[in-house]
Amino acid sequence: MSTIVIEGLCKIYGPIKALDGLDLHVEQGVVFGFLGPNGAGKTTTLRILAGLARPTTGQAWIEGLPVGPESHARRLVGYLPEEPSFYPWMRAREFLADLVGGLCGMSRREAMARADEMIVLVGLEKDADRRIGGFSRGMRQRLGLAQALMNRPPVLLLDEPVSGLDPVGRRNILNLIDELRGEATVFMSTHILSDVERICDAVGILNHGRLIALDKKENLLRRYAVPVVEVNFDAAPEMVAHWAESLRELPYVVNVQLDESAVRVTLDGSIQSSVDMQRLVLGADLLVLSYQHERPQLEDVFLQLVE
Ligand code: ATP
Repeated sequence: MSTIVIEGLCKIYGPIKALDGLDLHVEQGVVFGFLGPNGAGKTTTLRILAGLARPTTGQAWIEGLPVGPESHARRLVGYLPEEPSFYPWMRAREFLADLVGGLCGMSRREAMARADEMIVLVGLEKDADRRIGGFSRGMRQRLGLAQALMNRPPVLLLDEPVSGLDPVGRRNILNLIDELRGEATVFMSTHILSDVERICDAVGILNHGRLIALDKKENLLRRYAVPVVEVNFDAAPEMVAHWAESLRELPYVVNVQLDESAVRVTLDGSIQSSVDMQRLVLGADLLVLSYQHERPQLEDVFLQLVE
């Protein structure tokens, strides 16, 4: 069953078409990566799903309920905005237990217990009783995530959830999102392709308000990522350059990049091209230090589609 359904969503701001007929289904329990360059319409989509903005035309549903500012669908959603804002004079624990717990309709006792649980989950134990006004961007991000999770929502909408975090914080939050798989449906936008590669099951790529790719991560990689062979020689750079130059004329070689004595060759994906490359490297009469097929990366897919 699709937990999130989007049909023909358009959002127009004056002369700008932020969304231009977006159609999208996200299955229950998956971690969905929503990718796109700056200005593609990711935040606009998330805000509409969260019931914070209305589409110009089109409609979206969460668990079968149409989304909107007055919709019950809002109760099913935890939302982390790109830049969460808080009352600066409040303390983190107070914010979660008193304000968020209250808004979620929890009893005081339940709200306090859940707030404590969330503080540990996002790693804010040491700062829980400090004023939020003094929090760093990463700390605010963690608090924003704790707030989104307070009500145990079945759907989490996360706008750039790890953007302000250091590597340790990023890993912790990604692990946490990973653990939500199956329990909640996670819809997250991000620019960090390696993070999507690590934790997302399915990926949608948005460009100019339209979806240009939607599939399981493995299928996207299989379909779009091009094979690349990297060869490192123990030879003078000019000899390597001479050999690399001769590759450019081959019909199945898409690109050749040279870095001193290392050559990176992009192939057209045919089996024959890979077999021929091995033969050409051995026939180069240069000492080979390493020869490897690079694993296709989501970044290659993204750049190929968006450019
Ligand atoms: P980023 O990755 O930079 O956060 P995004 O994919 O989230 O970008 P949006 O923030 O959804 O993109 O913006 C899509 C387009 O809509 C942009 O051209 C943006 O300038 C425009 N836009 C968004 N909100 C408004 C607004 N309130 N008023 C006018 N234009 C807006």
